[in-house]
Amino acid sequence: MTSPSADKPKTLEAMKHFAEQYAKRTNTYFCSDLSVTAVVIEGLARHKEDLGSPLCPCRHYEDKEAEVKNTFWNCPCVPMRERKECHCMLFLTPDNDFAGAEQSISMELLEEVKASLSA
Ligand code: SF4
Repeated sequence: MTSPSADKPKTLEAMKHFAEQYAKRTNTYFCSDLSVTAVVIEGLARHKEDLGSPLCPCRHYEDKEAEVKNTFWNCPCVPMRERKECHCMLFLTPDNDFAGAEQSISMELLEEVKASLSA
């Protein structure tokens, strides 16, 4: 069984907060197309809800529970922590062609994307 949906906005908000703080701390920026950012944050929140950890949402896993235990792809993943490599384009270094100027995103956009993904 999944968690009650009443918890989900809080998880989404927590992942938004995490992404904003982590971008500031690492001097990275969100994508110039913030809908990309919103899809990734929504995916992280969904994994947090379903698995208890924000497993990277941009990869295919044979066994998600095992991957969570392995911790390598729990966000921020090892490539991001070691080399600032985020293949989801959530955290982009300023020299990246897709980097925008934002380190924050509105709850409205996140809710919008979430609604469109669950439609
Ligand atoms: S690639 Fe790494 S830092 Fe980027 S969203 Fe996935 S887990 Fe997070």
